[in-house]
Amino acid sequence: MKPVWLNKKISLNDCAEVKAILKRRGLNTVCQEAQCPNIGECFLKKQATFLILGEICTRSCSFCGIKKGAALAPDPDEPQRIADCVIELGLKHVVITSVTRDDLVDYGVGAFVETIKAIRQVDDKVRIEVLIPDFKADLESLSLLAESRPNIIAHNVETVPRLYKEVRKGAAYERSLQVFKILKGIASSIPLKSGLMLGLGEDEDEVYQVFDDLVKAGCVYLSIGQYLAPSNSHFPVEEYIPPEVFERYRQKALSAGFRFVKSAPYVRSSYMAHEYC
Ligand code: SF4
Repeated sequence: MKPVWLNKKISLNDCAEVKAILKRRGLNTVCQEAQCPNIGECFLKKQATFLILGEICTRSCSFCGIKKGAALAPDPDEPQRIADCVIELGLKHVVITSVTRDDLVDYGVGAFVETIKAIRQVDDKVRIEVLIPDFKADLESLSLLAESRPNIIAHNVETVPRLYKEVRKGAAYERSLQVFKILKGIASSIPLKSGLMLGLGEDEDEVYQVFDDLVKAGCVYLSIGQYLAPSNSHFPVEEYIPPEVFERYRQKALSAGFRFVKSAPYVRSSYMAHEYC
Protein backbone atom coordinates (compact mmCIF):
# COMPACT_ATOMS: atom_id res chain seq x y z
CA MET A 1 0.00 0.00 0.00
CA LYS A 2 1.19 3.51 -0.81
CA PRO A 3 2.17 5.70 2.16
CA VAL A 4 0.14 8.79 3.07
CA TRP A 5 2.54 11.24 1.40
CA LEU A 6 1.73 9.66 -1.97
CA ASN A 7 -1.95 10.46 -2.06
CA LYS A 8 -2.12 12.88 -4.98
CA LYS A 9 -5.48 12.69 -6.78
CA ILE A 10 -5.76 13.30 -10.51
CA SER A 11 -8.78 15.29 -11.56
CA LEU A 12 -9.80 14.58 -15.15
CA ASN A 13 -11.49 17.99 -15.33
CA ASP A 14 -8.14 19.70 -14.63
CA CYS A 15 -6.64 18.00 -17.68
CA ALA A 16 -9.49 18.43 -20.16
CA GLU A 17 -8.60 21.73 -21.83
CA VAL A 18 -4.93 20.92 -22.49
CA LYS A 19 -5.79 17.36 -23.57
CA ALA A 20 -8.24 18.74 -26.12
CA ILE A 21 -5.63 21.16 -27.51
CA LEU A 22 -3.04 18.39 -27.81
CA LYS A 23 -5.52 16.05 -29.49
CA ARG A 24 -6.58 18.72 -31.97
CA ARG A 25 -2.94 19.36 -32.89
CA GLY A 26 -2.04 15.63 -33.00
CA LEU A 27 0.74 15.94 -30.39
CA ASN A 28 2.03 13.51 -27.78
CA THR A 29 3.20 14.38 -24.28
CA VAL A 30 5.26 12.35 -21.86
CA CYS A 31 2.75 13.51 -19.25
CA GLN A 32 0.10 11.27 -20.84
CA GLU A 33 2.23 8.49 -22.31
CA ALA A 34 4.22 7.87 -19.11
CA GLN A 35 1.13 8.33 -16.89
CA CYS A 36 2.78 11.09 -14.88
CA PRO A 37 1.12 11.59 -11.47
CA ASN A 38 1.48 15.39 -11.80
CA ILE A 39 -0.66 15.63 -14.91
CA GLY A 40 -3.65 17.30 -13.22
CA GLU A 41 -1.49 19.95 -11.59
CA CYS A 42 0.63 20.66 -14.67
CA PHE A 43 -2.17 20.62 -17.25
CA LEU A 44 -4.25 22.93 -15.07
CA LYS A 45 -1.33 25.41 -15.27
CA LYS A 46 -1.08 24.70 -19.01
CA GLN A 47 2.34 23.11 -18.60
CA ALA A 48 3.16 20.02 -20.63
CA THR A 49 6.23 18.17 -21.85
CA PHE A 50 6.07 17.37 -25.55
CA LEU A 51 7.08 13.88 -26.63
CA ILE A 52 8.43 14.03 -30.17
CA LEU A 53 9.24 11.28 -32.69
CA GLY A 54 6.15 9.23 -31.91
CA GLU A 55 4.87 7.38 -28.89
CA ILE A 56 6.78 4.11 -29.39
CA CYS A 57 10.25 3.62 -27.93
CA THR A 58 12.91 1.33 -29.41
CA ARG A 59 14.31 0.41 -25.97
CA SER A 60 12.57 -1.58 -23.25
CA CYS A 61 13.34 0.00 -19.88
CA SER A 62 11.40 -1.93 -17.25
CA PHE A 63 10.42 1.19 -15.28
CA CYS A 64 8.87 3.15 -18.12
CA GLY A 65 5.19 3.30 -19.11
CA ILE A 66 5.85 4.34 -22.72
CA LYS A 67 4.95 1.77 -25.40
CA LYS A 68 7.82 -0.28 -26.87
CA GLY A 69 8.24 -1.73 -30.32
CA ALA A 70 8.87 -0.73 -33.91
CA ALA A 71 8.69 3.05 -34.17
CA LEU A 72 7.12 5.01 -37.03
CA ALA A 73 8.91 7.38 -39.43
CA PRO A 74 9.40 10.93 -38.05
CA ASP A 75 6.57 13.33 -38.86
CA PRO A 76 8.05 16.35 -40.73
CA ASP A 77 5.18 18.63 -39.64
CA GLU A 78 5.48 17.88 -35.95
CA PRO A 79 7.99 20.69 -35.14
CA GLN A 80 5.63 23.37 -36.52
CA ARG A 81 2.63 21.91 -34.69
CA ILE A 82 4.60 22.00 -31.45
CA ALA A 83 5.65 25.61 -32.07
CA ASP A 84 2.03 26.60 -32.69
CA CYS A 85 0.94 24.75 -29.56
CA VAL A 86 3.61 26.54 -27.47
CA ILE A 87 1.99 29.81 -28.55
CA GLU A 88 -1.55 28.55 -27.91
CA LEU A 89 -0.63 27.38 -24.39
CA GLY A 90 1.31 30.58 -23.72
CA LEU A 91 4.40 28.66 -22.57
CA LYS A 92 7.43 30.67 -21.45
CA HIS A 93 9.50 27.56 -20.73
CA VAL A 94 8.95 24.46 -22.82
CA VAL A 95 10.37 20.98 -22.31
CA ILE A 96 10.83 18.79 -25.37
CA THR A 97 11.64 15.12 -24.97
CA SER A 98 11.50 12.07 -27.21
CA VAL A 99 11.26 8.34 -27.19
CA THR A 100 14.63 6.68 -27.82
CA ARG A 101 15.13 6.20 -31.57
CA ASP A 102 18.06 3.84 -31.99
CA ASP A 103 16.58 2.96 -35.40
CA LEU A 104 17.30 6.40 -36.90
CA VAL A 105 20.68 7.24 -38.45
CA ASP A 106 20.86 10.47 -36.45
CA TYR A 107 19.19 8.92 -33.36
CA GLY A 108 16.48 11.57 -33.67
CA VAL A 109 18.61 14.66 -33.11
CA GLY A 110 17.33 16.24 -36.35
CA ALA A 111 13.80 16.35 -34.97
CA PHE A 112 15.03 18.13 -31.82
CA VAL A 113 16.90 20.67 -33.93
CA GLU A 114 13.88 21.31 -36.19
CA THR A 115 11.58 21.68 -33.18
CA ILE A 116 13.91 24.19 -31.52
CA LYS A 117 14.12 26.12 -34.79
CA ALA A 118 10.34 26.17 -35.25
CA ILE A 119 9.74 27.42 -31.69
CA ARG A 120 12.40 30.15 -32.02
CA GLN A 121 10.73 31.31 -35.23
CA VAL A 122 7.37 31.85 -33.53
CA ASP A 123 8.82 33.28 -30.30
CA ASP A 124 12.55 33.69 -29.68
CA LYS A 125 12.03 34.47 -25.98
CA VAL A 126 10.61 31.07 -25.02
CA ARG A 127 13.16 29.12 -22.96
CA ILE A 128 13.68 25.68 -24.48
CA GLU A 129 14.75 22.69 -22.42
CA VAL A 130 15.48 19.43 -24.22
CA LEU A 131 15.38 16.15 -22.34
CA ILE A 132 17.32 13.83 -24.61
CA PRO A 133 18.00 10.11 -24.91
CA ASP A 134 21.70 9.26 -24.99
CA PHE A 135 22.05 9.46 -28.82
CA LYS A 136 24.56 6.65 -28.18
CA ALA A 137 26.92 9.47 -27.05
CA ASP A 138 27.46 10.25 -30.72
CA LEU A 139 29.63 13.38 -31.07
CA GLU A 140 28.04 14.51 -34.32
CA SER A 141 24.48 14.25 -32.94
CA LEU A 142 25.39 16.03 -29.72
CA SER A 143 27.21 18.77 -31.66
CA LEU A 144 24.16 19.39 -33.86
CA LEU A 145 21.99 19.65 -30.77
CA ALA A 146 24.40 22.04 -29.03
CA GLU A 147 24.60 24.24 -32.15
CA SER A 148 20.84 24.75 -32.01
CA ARG A 149 21.38 26.41 -28.60
CA PRO A 150 18.64 25.05 -26.32
CA ASN A 151 18.58 26.82 -22.94
CA ILE A 152 18.99 23.61 -20.94
CA ILE A 153 20.05 20.12 -22.00
CA ALA A 154 18.77 17.35 -19.74
CA HIS A 155 19.51 13.65 -19.83
CA ASN A 156 18.32 11.39 -17.04
CA VAL A 157 20.58 8.71 -15.60
CA GLU A 158 17.44 7.49 -13.77
CA THR A 159 19.11 5.11 -11.30
CA VAL A 160 22.41 3.88 -9.88
CA PRO A 161 24.72 1.85 -12.19
CA ARG A 162 24.19 -1.46 -10.32
CA LEU A 163 20.50 -1.48 -11.32
CA TYR A 164 20.95 -0.66 -15.01
CA LYS A 165 20.83 -4.30 -16.15
CA GLU A 166 17.36 -4.78 -14.70
CA VAL A 167 15.92 -1.29 -15.00
CA ARG A 168 17.52 0.29 -18.08
CA LYS A 169 18.30 -2.53 -20.48
CA GLY A 170 19.91 -1.04 -23.59
CA ALA A 171 21.31 1.96 -21.72
CA ALA A 172 24.75 2.27 -20.12
CA TYR A 173 25.59 4.45 -17.12
CA GLU A 174 29.07 5.29 -18.40
CA ARG A 175 27.65 6.24 -21.79
CA SER A 176 25.20 8.63 -20.12
CA LEU A 177 28.08 10.25 -18.24
CA GLN A 178 29.91 10.48 -21.54
CA VAL A 179 26.98 12.44 -23.00
CA PHE A 180 27.47 15.09 -20.31
CA LYS A 181 31.25 15.15 -20.68
CA ILE A 182 30.95 15.69 -24.44
CA LEU A 183 28.35 18.44 -24.00
CA LYS A 184 30.44 20.14 -21.32
CA GLY A 185 33.35 20.17 -23.77
CA ILE A 186 31.48 21.52 -26.79
CA ALA A 187 28.83 23.77 -25.18
CA SER A 188 30.06 24.80 -21.75
CA SER A 189 27.58 27.70 -21.49
CA ILE A 190 24.47 25.49 -21.78
CA PRO A 191 23.43 24.20 -18.32
CA LEU A 192 23.21 20.42 -18.03
CA LYS A 193 20.58 18.66 -15.97
CA SER A 194 19.92 15.08 -14.91
CA GLY A 195 17.25 13.14 -13.06
CA LEU A 196 17.07 10.20 -10.67
CA MET A 197 14.24 7.98 -9.46
CA LEU A 198 14.48 6.53 -5.97
CA GLY A 199 12.83 3.45 -4.53
CA LEU A 200 14.21 0.93 -7.04
CA GLY A 201 16.47 -0.76 -4.49
CA GLU A 202 19.43 1.64 -4.51
CA ASP A 203 21.59 2.30 -1.41
CA GLU A 204 22.25 5.81 -0.15
CA ASP A 205 25.98 5.56 -0.80
CA GLU A 206 25.33 4.54 -4.38
CA VAL A 207 23.15 7.62 -4.85
CA TYR A 208 25.87 9.86 -3.42
CA GLN A 209 28.35 8.34 -5.85
CA VAL A 210 25.98 9.22 -8.71
CA PHE A 211 25.86 12.84 -7.44
CA ASP A 212 29.67 13.01 -7.57
CA ASP A 213 29.82 11.39 -11.01
CA LEU A 214 27.24 13.81 -12.44
CA VAL A 215 28.90 16.89 -10.99
CA LYS A 216 32.28 15.77 -12.34
CA ALA A 217 30.68 15.20 -15.76
CA GLY A 218 29.37 18.78 -15.79
CA CYS A 219 25.77 18.59 -14.51
CA VAL A 220 24.51 21.59 -12.58
CA TYR A 221 20.81 20.77 -12.12
CA LEU A 222 19.26 17.62 -10.65
CA SER A 223 15.76 16.28 -10.08
CA ILE A 224 15.07 13.43 -7.67
CA GLY A 225 11.66 11.75 -7.31
CA GLN A 226 9.97 8.57 -6.13
CA TYR A 227 9.70 5.74 -8.68
CA LEU A 228 6.10 4.58 -9.15
CA ALA A 229 5.52 1.46 -11.23
CA PRO A 230 3.19 2.18 -14.20
CA SER A 231 1.65 -1.34 -13.90
CA ASN A 232 2.14 -4.73 -12.22
CA SER A 233 4.21 -5.91 -15.16
CA HIS A 234 6.77 -3.12 -14.71
CA PHE A 235 9.74 -3.15 -12.34
CA PRO A 236 8.30 -3.22 -8.81
CA VAL A 237 8.74 -0.41 -6.29
CA GLU A 238 11.24 -1.65 -3.69
CA GLU A 239 10.76 1.17 -1.24
CA TYR A 240 8.79 4.34 -0.63
CA ILE A 241 11.22 7.05 0.41
CA PRO A 242 9.84 9.52 3.01
CA PRO A 243 9.88 13.27 2.25
CA GLU A 244 12.50 13.98 4.94
CA VAL A 245 14.92 11.56 3.25
CA PHE A 246 14.32 13.34 -0.08
CA GLU A 247 15.26 16.57 1.69
CA ARG A 248 18.45 14.94 2.99
CA TYR A 249 19.32 13.91 -0.57
CA ARG A 250 18.65 17.47 -1.75
CA GLN A 251 21.09 18.88 0.82
CA LYS A 252 23.71 16.25 -0.04
CA ALA A 253 23.35 16.96 -3.75
CA LEU A 254 23.84 20.68 -3.17
CA SER A 255 26.93 19.92 -1.06
CA ALA A 256 28.21 17.72 -3.88
CA GLY A 257 28.19 20.79 -6.14
CA PHE A 258 24.83 21.03 -7.95
CA ARG A 259 23.54 24.57 -8.46
CA PHE A 260 19.84 23.73 -8.06
CA VAL A 261 18.12 20.54 -6.95
CA LYS A 262 14.49 19.52 -6.69
CA SER A 263 14.00 16.46 -4.50
CA ALA A 264 10.60 15.24 -3.28
CA PRO A 265 8.37 12.22 -3.89
CA TYR A 266 6.44 13.75 -6.80
CA VAL A 267 9.35 15.51 -8.47
CA ARG A 268 9.84 14.50 -12.08
CA SER A 269 12.50 15.76 -14.47
CA SER A 270 10.16 18.26 -16.12
CA TYR A 271 8.15 19.13 -13.02
CA MET A 272 8.21 22.92 -12.55
CA ALA A 273 11.10 22.96 -15.00
CA HIS A 274 11.07 26.79 -15.20
CA GLU A 275 12.30 27.00 -11.58
CA TYR A 276 15.76 25.66 -12.44
CA CYS A 277 16.78 28.70 -14.52
S1 SF4 B 1 5.79 16.70 -14.22
FE1 SF4 B 1 6.45 16.84 -16.35
S2 SF4 B 1 5.75 14.93 -17.30
FE2 SF4 B 1 4.63 15.18 -15.38
S3 SF4 B 1 2.73 16.22 -15.98
FE3 SF4 B 1 4.20 17.79 -15.36
S4 SF4 B 1 5.17 18.46 -17.26
FE4 SF4 B 1 4.18 16.48 -17.66
